[in-house]
Amino acid sequence: MDFSQRLQQVQRRIGEAARRAGRDPASIALIAVSKLHPAADLRVAYAAGVRDFGENYVQELVEKHAALSELPDVRFHLIGHLQRNKARAVVPIATSLHTLDDARTIAECERRAAAANRAVQVFLQVNVGEETQKSGCSPAELAPLVDAVLQCPHLQLQGLMTIPPATEEPDDARPFFRRLYELQQKLHVPLARLSMGMSSDFEVAIEEGATDVRVGTALFGARS
Ligand SMILES: *Cc1c(COP(=O)(O)O)cnc(C)c1O
Repeated sequence: MDFSQRLQQVQRRIGEAARRAGRDPASIALIAVSKLHPAADLRVAYAAGVRDFGENYVQELVEKHAALSELPDVRFHLIGHLQRNKARAVVPIATSLHTLDDARTIAECERRAAAANRAVQVFLQVNVGEETQKSGCSPAELAPLVDAVLQCPHLQLQGLMTIPPATEEPDDARPFFRRLYELQQKLHVPLARLSMGMSSDFEVAIEEGATDVRVGTALFGARS
């Protein structure tokens, strides 16, 4: 299968999951996770119609952004952990940041976005499985972080993001996706979007309310 066939297959599966859940397939955004794949692979994806790319590492995002600079409508999304001292490099070029989880990094991103005179879309990452080794705020820390972002004029709060604990079966991730949805529903402000679901479980995530799915392997194949 070539890239556009894999893309069509993923889009078809997104559509079917959305319809099962009574949702509009057009309301679900596909982020093609291109981490560890060369810029040439992103060009192939671009030719097939992809405009939204997810990258985990700031340095790699910066390099690919430069490599594809002649393609005006490409959007890069940071989906890996952001260290505060890397905000300076990524905030001026990323369309969205999916992994904010502490007040100091939020403040630094606002400072860098203001300096670049641009707005950046942000998601707050929640560690719904409360795993000690994983990034993301705890559910209890979420409300104050929401307020922190809302005070930042250059950060546009979109919603919440999570990476559930690794599981054997896609369906085992369902309770964690549901927990993120419930947290979103209980917040004191309405937030529209939920970034959740990867190659192995994006259909379950859509059934539980995902609006942004981050799919790598199912599009680009295995990473080396
Ligand atoms: C790598 C990664 C993905 C994509 O994973 P696949 O299993 O290849 O689809 C999605 N989200 C995050 C945060 C990732 O690090």
